[in-house]
Amino acid sequence: MSVPLLEFRDVDVFYGPIQALKGISLTVNEGETVALIGANGAGKSTLLMSIFGQPRIARGQIFYRGEAISHKSTHFIASNGIAQAPEGRRIFPDMTVEENLLMGTIPIGDRHQKEDKARMYQLFPILEERRAQRAMTLSGGEQQMLAIARALMSRPKLLLLDEPSLGLAPLVVRQIFDTLRTLTAQGMTLFLVEQNANHALRLSDRAYVLVNGEIRLTGSGQALLVDPEVRRAYLGGA
Ligand code: ATP
Repeated sequence: MSVPLLEFRDVDVFYGPIQALKGISLTVNEGETVALIGANGAGKSTLLMSIFGQPRIARGQIFYRGEAISHKSTHFIASNGIAQAPEGRRIFPDMTVEENLLMGTIPIGDRHQKEDKARMYQLFPILEERRAQRAMTLSGGEQQMLAIARALMSRPKLLLLDEPSLGLAPLVVRQIFDTLRTLTAQGMTLFLVEQNANHALRLSDRAYVLVNGEIRLTGSGQALLVDPEVRRAYLGGA
């Protein structure tokens, strides 16, 4: 039976007078990979960030493992098993790769540090080669890998990814999605926001299409890949 790990029920979000999310309802079940696709400005980042309470929702409710979390602190949410690899990476540029990884353990403390660092270097061997290098000197793809690895250092049950393919060369995007596939095979639950609908839908069990702050379509990744509207709007008509 599918167990909902994350659930949005009829959620509205405003920025001043502008309504960015309108009556959003969605679920991410344990062990699933769910994608949220949509054009620029559709509200994808807003939806993802509202899970951490930034911005706060105006109406509805967000549940994590059955518990309402919309009024919990960011620290509470992070220390209860949700981690995010944010858009634009937001790694610490002056810190080394290794120091960045250690920052990822803040929500859970340092008791698994050594073991988890080794696990990250196995998942992303290039990061081990670069471990003493300052993060600002990494390539875009390596920075994205570091952002994902840092998020994983808090041993999340649910990993949120905001545009993991943004600005990266096709080969690097493929490498990152291969790694995400490895993570899902290990049982990780993923919720990813993407403009790169092709990769996202291929990876996902299910997906939602967001248009102007509303869920327009939902279905399996496979079904949406062949949906005429999705093909026209998000897959270059291919
Ligand atoms: P992109 O892929 O370009 O990041 P997105 O789908 O993630 O787009 P959001 O960044 O969530 O979209 O933006 C949704 C809407 O809310 C847009 O109209 C945007 O201009 C507006 N918006 C986002 N952040 C703010 C803010 N801090 N203040 C006011 N309006 C905002």
